[in-house]
Amino acid sequence: MNTIISVKNLKKNYGNFAAVKGISFDVYEGEIFGLLGPNGAGKSTTLEIIETLRDKTSGEVIVDGLDLDKSPNEIKKIIGVQLQTSGFYPGLTLIELIELFSGLYNQQVNPMELLKLVNLEDKAKNKYKEMSGGQKQRFSIATTLINKPKIIFLDEPTTGLDPQARRNLWDLIEDIRAKGATVIITTHYMDEAEQLCDRIAIIDEGKIISLDSPDKMIDDLVASGFEKPKQIKAANLEDVFIRLTGKEMRDE
Ligand code: ADP
Ligand code: MG
Repeated sequence: MNTIISVKNLKKNYGNFAAVKGISFDVYEGEIFGLLGPNGAGKSTTLEIIETLRDKTSGEVIVDGLDLDKSPNEIKKIIGVQLQTSGFYPGLTLIELIELFSGLYNQQVNPMELLKLVNLEDKAKNKYKEMSGGQKQRFSIATTLINKPKIIFLDEPTTGLDPQARRNLWDLIEDIRAKGATVIITTHYMDEAEQLCDRIAIIDEGKIISLDSPDKMIDDLVASGFEKPKQIKAANLEDVFIRLTGKEMRDE
């Protein structure tokens, strides 16, 4: 397994508050790696440091063989970072926004091909502000693909989406990985991490408290003698909801 990101003893202080307290982890090429943790755990801070968007206090970060301290501009060229939705001009159409971004990245792209990838070709001439929540998230993921990045960073891409839009986004993320990219995603949805991630790091109060595949973590817990207090049913309420309302997207 090739290591594509290596983080060693990373620390970040905001004033005298320690937000990230010396974390170390490796991300392997081609995997979907999850950072899980409650609000304020330090997930976004960690991502933004690796993305070269935020200074670290100390520690070492290597991205695809490039040292963050020495080659931030080289790192920027090989990564795709999902912007928060507020980063888009609301009055421009999706095509106009893609053209704007490809200009910024100095990349030739076919806007329609890109929109097709995220299932938004029908919305090409619509304005950004006319999109639903799920469509906006798919569009923002499309913009991360413009510079054909090796590594894609997604910070809570599914927060606030309905179940259909969430599953639809999982498919999209799996497609992106199938094309060879490495994906790093943060989430606080456990079902999402279990379904999507090859490995996860659980972060709490600036420290990694566990790092493994979801399967292994669950097996370890069961092996330790843990039992669910009540009997588990073969389905849950989300299964009921999806069965009743279908898997098709509503917001197209
Ligand atoms: P997460 O993404 O896991 O919710 P963050 O990395 O955003 O966590 O934040 C980690 C901690 O650092 C939180 O306590 C947050 O309030 C604090 N923090 C984040 N950004 C700043 C900042 N610019 N200045 C001061 N404190 C910050
Ligand atoms: Mg965050």
